[in-house]
Amino acid sequence: MFYCVHPCPCGYYGDSQIACTCAPAVVTKYQKRISGPLLGRIDIHIEVPRVDYEKLSGDRLGESSESIRKRVQAARNIQQSRFTNLQLPMFSAMQTCASGRYGDFVRSR
Ligand SMILES: [Zn+2]
Repeated sequence: MFYCVHPCPCGYYGDSQIACTCAPAVVTKYQKRISGPLLGRIDIHIEVPRVDYEKLSGDRLGESSESIRKRVQAARNIQQSRFTNLQLPMFSAMQTCASGRYGDFVRSR
């Protein structure tokens, strides 16, 4: 699930360039309007600051997918090596689950 929300009714609370016009009590009430059960389903909370238009619209190319893939694969190899070296039983469970045989893993317990 992906959920995105402004920090206050005017949308500028915490902004580095435009001042928020909301009263503190209004900001607090606004931020508490998300119910507890919904908040409980959100695992990661990230505040995203303003990004300049020039940065978004420039011709600068970002990192290529191939380059990112190599970094991710290197990290996965390191992690796999760590689990293998520790000989943790959970590693075999993770391999089983990753291969789509979670049911087999659960039944084997
Ligand atoms: Zn505001």
